[in-house]
Amino acid sequence: MTTATPLILVINCGSSSLKFALQPVDSIDPILSGLAECLGLEDARIIIKDSDGNKTTQTLNGGRHAEAMEVLTRDLAQRGLLDKVAAIGHRIVHGGERFTASAIVTDDVMAGIEECCELAPLHNPGHLVGIRAAQKAFPGLKQVVVFDTAFHQTMQPAVYRYAVPKRFYTDYHVRRYGMHGTSCRYVTGEAIRVLDLDPADHGIIICHLGNGASATAVKNGQCVDTTMGMTPLEGLIMGTRSGDIDPAAVTYIARREKLDLDGIDHLLNKQSGLLGISGVSSDCRALEEAAVAGNPDAQLALQMFAHRLSRLIGGLATSLDRLDAIVFTGGIGENSSLLRAKTLEHLRIFGFKLDAAANDAAIRGKAGVITAAGSPVAVVVNTNEECMIARDTAELAGIQA
Ligand code: ADP
Repeated sequence: MTTATPLILVINCGSSSLKFALQPVDSIDPILSGLAECLGLEDARIIIKDSDGNKTTQTLNGGRHAEAMEVLTRDLAQRGLLDKVAAIGHRIVHGGERFTASAIVTDDVMAGIEECCELAPLHNPGHLVGIRAAQKAFPGLKQVVVFDTAFHQTMQPAVYRYAVPKRFYTDYHVRRYGMHGTSCRYVTGEAIRVLDLDPADHGIIICHLGNGASATAVKNGQCVDTTMGMTPLEGLIMGTRSGDIDPAAVTYIARREKLDLDGIDHLLNKQSGLLGISGVSSDCRALEEAAVAGNPDAQLALQMFAHRLSRLIGGLATSLDRLDAIVFTGGIGENSSLLRAKTLEHLRIFGFKLDAAANDAAIRGKAGVITAAGSPVAVVVNTNEECMIARDTAELAGIQA
């Protein structure tokens, strides 16, 4: 495999996993991607896939992130790609109020990410491990961090504060932050391009619907409101997350079931959402199959998902001057013509009329407008967070095609 173009290594590190993509700076498609998983466990392994779909799996013998990076760099060297890697971009879940944009990694930036660990205890510590492993494996290369929360930092206090005593905000940073910001930034650019919108004068609502799901109102390129909150739990119904629920219902359940705080956390983050309602699956595809087969709980789960989504879209619209388009993205947004149709049906008050043929065609990587002529616009856009991270990394590290 040879390439003359500089490559950006995009890394998304969790506590026991390391996802990567090798992205040419002038392309949206990676030439190599893969995943190291079960890190620290006996069956730790790394799977590397090239752009033709050829896969190799290597055992890491219980190794962790550093061992995964070693195997990856050896593999890149064998493919003649190692010295083409020009910079490294890391996905970071939480940048708190400190990070309003992507940044080059310095000791000070590392300390800032560390400070945000209390806001994302399941994610930020793993990101720090990943950055350190990459620094060791690629000494001398610039590393860039790209934050999921940064795009939402343009929200105003009236939007991001919770109606609890002020001291919880000033003492503990309790406020709404939002997630999926990197996807929103990429998708905003694509929506502007595809719909020929004015970059300085538009209003869109992005529905990023995957296992985690959120919707975001974007006015003139900036986030003005989003459905996720201090954590990803707020807002839409998700695969296993409840989204919005009356907090008093939670304390009531806790008393009845004698749940402690970890028990509540587990219930609302891991056992609720589509899985909890249906008792079938957290996976939209499996639910659609069960619904077609007549399972009433699966049918209800899909109805509730569409109802909550359209209800929150209605709320987000109140932060815009004009609604140019609703944009569907993420695994469900890009593939579930059923949930898109149900959602637009709920939004008929705004005048949405589906183009059923266009909606059915917009699946598996095919994007485009799914509404009829004369209707407000709804469009499917394929998100590409890795590409957005690679672009930021190339820009901040001063790398050109
Ligand atoms: P993540 O948030 O983990 O990145 P994805 O964006 O990959 O998740 O989305 C995963 C969701 O997309 C799953 O619920 C999956 O069932 C759904 N999905 C993928 N393909 C289809 C399809 N053809 N029809 C309906 N849902 C789909």
